Amino acid sequence: MTGSVIAALIAIGLVLIASPIIWNIRKDRYFNSEQFQALRSEIASVVTEHNEVVNYVAEIRTNGSFELGSSSSGQYAHLATFENNSTWNNRRDRNLAEYAPHVHNASLQVVRSASADPIRYLMKYFSIKADTDTLADVQRVAENIARLEEAIGNVSGREAAIASRINPPAFILERYAEQFWSQVGVHLSSITVPYPHYKFQYTSAGGNSGQTASIDLNTSTLEALSTTLVEKIRWTKSAAGQRALMTARLRGHIKERDRYTCQQCGISVAAEPHLLLEVDHIIPVSKGGLSMPENLQTLCWRCNRSKGARVVA
Ligand SMILES: [Zn+2]
Repeated sequence: MTGSVIAALIAIGLVLIASPIIWNIRKDRYFNSEQFQALRSEIASVVTEHNEVVNYVAEIRTNGSFELGSSSSGQYAHLATFENNSTWNNRRDRNLAEYAPHVHNASLQVVRSASADPIRYLMKYFSIKADTDTLADVQRVAENIARLEEAIGNVSGREAAIASRINPPAFILERYAEQFWSQVGVHLSSITVPYPHYKFQYTSAGGNSGQTASIDLNTSTLEALSTTLVEKIRWTKSAAGQRALMTARLRGHIKERDRYTCQQCGISVAAEPHLLLEVDHIIPVSKGGLSMPENLQTLCWRCNRSKGARVVA
């Protein structure tokens, strides 16, 4: 008899341990503990800074431009009414072209060629012309994307640092992550990089087969596109073809040259390990500044933000 009572008690105990009520009690106890409260006030300034960087990421996302040329196929598609009159009754719903600015409806051959030679086909079918204005446009998008990528990476590094400094019991992050961050006062950022997405799409006449070649304008695509544009512009022997390109490698080089130190206020990664540093054109590109080392400097996000505000004003 005692054996079965003990077994029953153990079973009840196990059910209780696994129960949400118990987790909830443990969670409240943790958040109210002196240890957690002390850590929370200890890192209050780190949290304030983190939240400012999160806002800064949102500013980059809002003010940046992430768009290039678009395909003209289907530009006037809304002016026509489409009807599928084929006698074959199989999946007619699939024989509908997708008319969007970044979608080019093409023959199977074009889709296959585009996946083999994406940069050339991107330029050809989405009217990305080999001229200086387009190159400036591509470089601008590339810079916005790189800047946003770095800032997002910086924010997640800060989050990880805050979490490891507070080091809550595992179940807190597993079950109550959202509450944990709100207790700490950290605003989480859900911003992702809006990589422009281009598509070559083929749909067979009956709608039964289709193939797609997709191209994301991420940093490596944009660098390849910039290089191709420069080659083509140079080939036309235009002086503008001599224009230097902004690349991830050049940005890295400038930061290294400046010893990861803001050239305006002097703050450095040595003093603040999670410092977000950016590479700035001393004379802005819009005013003819080039991406040459002598026109580039490392600035911390605060100084770059206030410089940006001055340039806009
Ligand atoms: Zn600074």
